[in-house]
Amino acid sequence: MPDFFESSIEFLKGVGPQRAALLQKELHISTFGDLLTYYPFRYDDRTTFYKVNEVNEELPSVQLQGKILRLGIAGGGRKKRLVGTFRDDTGDLDLVWFQGIKWTLEKIKPGVEYIVFGKPNRYGSRISIAHPEIEPVSEKSERGGYLQPVYPLTEILRSKYFDNKVLGKLQAQLQLIGARHITETLPQWLIEKLKMVSRMEALSQIHFPADWEKLKAAQYRLKFEELFYLQIQLIRMKLVRQQKSIGFMLSDTSLLTKFYKEHLPFELTDAQKKVIREIYTDMKAGQQMNRLLQGDVGSGKTIVAFISILIAVGSGFQAALMAPTEILAQQHYTNLKKHADKMGITIALLSGSTKKAVRKTLHEELTSGRLNILIGTHALIEEEVKFHQLGLAIIDEQHRFGVSQRSKLWQKNEKGYPHVLVMTATPIPRTLAMTLYGDLDISVIDELPKGRKPIKTTHRYDSHRLQLNQFLREQIKEGRQIYIVYPLIEESEKLDLKHLMDGYESISRAFPDVPLSILHGKMKAEAKDFEMDRFIRNETKIMVATTVIEVGVDVPNASVMVIESAERFGLSQLHQLRGRVGRGASQSYCILVSSYKLSKESKVRMETMVKTNNGFDIAETDLRLRGPGDLLGTQQSGLLDLSIADLSKDGKIIKLAREIALRILDQDPELKKGSNLEIKKHLESKRKKGISWSKVS
Ligand code: ADP
Ligand code: MG
Repeated sequence: MPDFFESSIEFLKGVGPQRAALLQKELHISTFGDLLTYYPFRYDDRTTFYKVNEVNEELPSVQLQGKILRLGIAGGGRKKRLVGTFRDDTGDLDLVWFQGIKWTLEKIKPGVEYIVFGKPNRYGSRISIAHPEIEPVSEKSERGGYLQPVYPLTEILRSKYFDNKVLGKLQAQLQLIGARHITETLPQWLIEKLKMVSRMEALSQIHFPADWEKLKAAQYRLKFEELFYLQIQLIRMKLVRQQKSIGFMLSDTSLLTKFYKEHLPFELTDAQKKVIREIYTDMKAGQQMNRLLQGDVGSGKTIVAFISILIAVGSGFQAALMAPTEILAQQHYTNLKKHADKMGITIALLSGSTKKAVRKTLHEELTSGRLNILIGTHALIEEEVKFHQLGLAIIDEQHRFGVSQRSKLWQKNEKGYPHVLVMTATPIPRTLAMTLYGDLDISVIDELPKGRKPIKTTHRYDSHRLQLNQFLREQIKEGRQIYIVYPLIEESEKLDLKHLMDGYESISRAFPDVPLSILHGKMKAEAKDFEMDRFIRNETKIMVATTVIEVGVDVPNASVMVIESAERFGLSQLHQLRGRVGRGASQSYCILVSSYKLSKESKVRMETMVKTNNGFDIAETDLRLRGPGDLLGTQQSGLLDLSIADLSKDGKIIKLAREIALRILDQDPELKKGSNLEIKKHLESKRKKGISWSKVS
């Protein structure tokens, strides 16, 4: 028998073929089950009634009971509107309709007792509610009100008279015929342990809550369920990978010891030592490593990468390091070559601009095994790049790469998967990381090298440019170098480029005797290298650039970061940019320049930047402001298709779900025990429905 909830939505009373097509297109609802799990995004509180004299424009939506005294048309032309005077025993206010006037006039009768619901606003001395929900007092409302679920709908649906009420009716219809078909998806012991409500109860209360408390219980249950299954699947993927993918045993530390003794350029921080131990433990364990190395900008991930490379090379394997941009690959190459030369191991750079002839010899050296380390851009994962024996693949600044690119690197050794180390400076809140990288092990460098002075961050308005320039002049006089960054957003690329050029001109006018560099994405690779080199060699003092310098660039003598139109950048981007300074011994500054007009959110961003240097605090705020999808870019947001849980708010539930999932799978990895039967069954039915997890792996 096919599952009741697999039935086509078309067959629900009140739907039919046309609405079914509309629901499918607009809300991706095609079965009873889809409708059942299409949850309200908020609930209007219809449990309390306000009195007219309590209402002010600060309140969210309010519910009132009273009568309409007068109803009449006001204004004309585009300003034509219907105005009703609404009164209870404490006073009166206006109800206003700009649309559907004729229909409203037919429906609303003066003198009848109504219940009105809407958002109050103030016009002069009058309070008014535009387009209120309004209905005659009924039994339902007299019973003391209720929580009105509000579903996410689209404009197209509304234009076809498919509104919240209609959807509510369908949900009611479905509950009527479907409630008894709802089966439990969590084991009873778990439900009891967490004092959760049953799935049947939860799915009824989520659509028709009896009160706030019951609603909370329903939400908790459904969020837990969603996150629990997400974790179960992520952890299982990891287990499967660990079983299948026998890793190379890379345990020779002779090179490492030599490096430590003779060439280590500085003492490692405790955090660096800790993550190196974690990486080494993985690499020698005989299982393939898949590790995320998270460390705030400037925390010193590069040296950790090099030390990991030494373990691989020392054990007779090759290593590759992939960076998201040419500039970064170049920089890694220059940095690591210094170390590699001292250690007597070979290293090469491969990027889009590597000449054909060079490429050819490079390929040969790679396949013969003469080349130990290859640094590059995504050119590394091209088909024709073949290794003799790749043992370790490192990906820097992961958020620029898609998951599929990560997996391509895995394929580079036919004899087995190389160990993979993914490095990111994007501080991902722990709860989010658990979900996103649930299949990776995580190492965190949570400490900056000693002696770093915290960067001083200030916020200045456009109009203070003269003072700002004066400050920059003093810094240059003291021998410092400066970045001035302009936004360049794809949608407004032309205009942004013009701003950058205008900026460059006014800077050259303000600093006539100071050599400048300029850098933006539209320049040829050679031109970029040329400008960057001059800045690195301290020949130019100011680098005028777009966000191409955002990640990874390391010029310790540059100690001032000026960010123009700072209000246009996201928080994590601002933090990344700021991380370009504060790398040397001198006091560093970050100056956010914005216009006076700032949205509420922009203000929070500026304040957060000024207040804290801590990447994790910033990431938390960013997550709150923007939600997880934006934070991670579109590449990974598919993973975040959650229907009720919210990664930015449900951190506690995520943690709990992960802990419990880990414990269950630890004791019963195949889910064979009777006590886990529901879990096994639910996973199977999910798989049958073709919920694809390929996008995750
Ligand atoms: P990120 O983690 O942002 O990639 P880098 O690896 O570029 O950071 O390191 C930032 C700077 O700090 C570099 O100039 C590097 O040489 C230096 N550095 C790294 N580790 C240490 C340390 N333990 N002590 C002193 N300086 C360090
Ligand atoms: Mg780096």
